[in-house]
Amino acid sequence: MNISTLNVAILNCIFFLIPLVTTAQNHVYHAYINLTETDFGKLPINLKRNGSPQQEIHFNFPKSIQGTYSYQNYNRFIELPKSDNIQSYTLNEDVFIIKSTQPIDRICYTVNQSWDKSPNVIFEPASTLFSKEVALLQWWAILPKILNENAKYIIHLEIENDKYITSSTPFTQLNDSVFVSDTLSYEQILDQSLLYSDQETVSFNLEESNLKIQIGSYSTLNKIHPYHLYKDIHETLSTISVYLPKEVFPITYSTLFYFNHKPYKSGKQGALEHKSGAVFTFPESKYEYLKDEIRKTIAHEFLHILNPLVISNTSLQNYDTQNPDIGQQLWFYEGLTEYLAVKLLWQSELISDEQFLEEILQKYNRSLWYDNTVPLSKLSEDVLSEYREQFGNFYNKGFLVSLSLDLFFYQNNSEFTIIELLHILLEKYPEGFEDDKLFSILEKESSVKGVNKFLKSIIQKNDDLPLEEFLFKIGIDFTPIHKIPKASLGNIGIAFKDEKVIVTDVSELDQFGKAIGYQKGDILFSLNNELLTTENFPSKVSEFQNESNSKDTIKIQILRNGKQIHTKAKALINYQEEKASIGLILEEKASFFLFKEHSILQQKD
Ligand SMILES: [Zn+2]
Repeated sequence: MNISTLNVAILNCIFFLIPLVTTAQNHVYHAYINLTETDFGKLPINLKRNGSPQQEIHFNFPKSIQGTYSYQNYNRFIELPKSDNIQSYTLNEDVFIIKSTQPIDRICYTVNQSWDKSPNVIFEPASTLFSKEVALLQWWAILPKILNENAKYIIHLEIENDKYITSSTPFTQLNDSVFVSDTLSYEQILDQSLLYSDQETVSFNLEESNLKIQIGSYSTLNKIHPYHLYKDIHETLSTISVYLPKEVFPITYSTLFYFNHKPYKSGKQGALEHKSGAVFTFPESKYEYLKDEIRKTIAHEFLHILNPLVISNTSLQNYDTQNPDIGQQLWFYEGLTEYLAVKLLWQSELISDEQFLEEILQKYNRSLWYDNTVPLSKLSEDVLSEYREQFGNFYNKGFLVSLSLDLFFYQNNSEFTIIELLHILLEKYPEGFEDDKLFSILEKESSVKGVNKFLKSIIQKNDDLPLEEFLFKIGIDFTPIHKIPKASLGNIGIAFKDEKVIVTDVSELDQFGKAIGYQKGDILFSLNNELLTTENFPSKVSEFQNESNSKDTIKIQILRNGKQIHTKAKALINYQEEKASIGLILEEKASFFLFKEHSILQQKD
């Protein structure tokens, strides 16, 4: 189709045509999309039905798209045309119905962009954006699921000829500005996105697997370009792809990046995975500041093409976009993926030993932001409703659970790796596993005794993770957040002057301070009969704080206006929170590096 006929098709949406020709291509919908005409966030769609026209068509758009673990309700962005000839209405807000006494051969409607739209702002990698300068098309939000029909789709796309499109959707370019896609299944519609931007796509093939990679990007201030991203994406995907079975690779893996100098309205940044690519949203800053996060995120998204996009429980395998059932194992899909991304980058020297330890510590600290009283199995089951706000913990506590599981395997059967396990799951459970059988499957397939019991205790019973003990065995000294008892000196302000320790602030004395009766200007002369000097004060106080207990009576001698005052009071013990810490145990470095080498040998030999 050339440009002019494309324009005609979009401008004149004719609903009624007498079917002169019935082709063999039943139920193929030709979507005419003209990105040169999009404006004010609106995209008109002209969907021509090829095949026998019908008098009633039912269709809808997803409520939830896989990977978001939330509801988007894309129906709300659709505007149906008003016309005397046809009736169009929605049924329970779920289904659009177009009805006519005459045969209908096309559906015309407008899609409003979802980007930045309140309420319930959609996570931007799953959102649509239509402007003359940049467009992010998510086919599932633009092209409907036709109910009671096995519809196929052909997309006719027109763009400005100085712009570029990046998409894993297979297109044939007819001229500078017109593209026509292959015939697409609805499964492809649910899996593919397209970025329209003024930045030229960078494409390359991974040497090892011949997988074609595309990089498309849009940068609000034009600071970042696909060629900035090329080296890190190439290096990361070359590394990660070695660990994945080639049969899960798409023909083209398309990475679409949006860099924004303003904060994202969803409050989040990150990525959404598909089998044939991923969409990323990052802040726009100097590329150097972003590269570590980009590497980690792309490793994570690429690992998703296996888990959970191919191996998962049966309900995720047949993701119901109207009424999804997530099951109890979100830790396995998100936590394990996050852990493997970090671990494989570390083992391949793309992140340093220090960064690996720092990741563990950071995940631990971030897990404390969430409600850890609810078992992960329960959070997973209700992540779309009651526990929406807890979703982030799957990347943190889920990471730590996966690390613990990896160490459980490592300590019990040093021949076995988690990556191997994923390969086995792909081979043996291609149709998906039963959600509540995952733990016993992992035990059976790994032949490691106790896995089922271990995971049940952590995921379902919410028992504490044995992180300290497990990490110690691979030479890592990890101390979780803890409280230590400290005796109070009374909550006074102190200054050193002329080698004397002077009380400068008594405005917030605690119980102990009041019992001692400090006054401003007092000189601290002795503590438990030991003379205080400006030199020994820090060590004496620290000794006092750490060694006193609540039964002790504390004696303090004060000089006030030249007079010595002897005071005493019962010790007051406060509990002070100490931050978590992590580090290598010097004498155990060998076990740390043995663990690091472990699955590299397994995988690459
Ligand atoms: Zn993920």
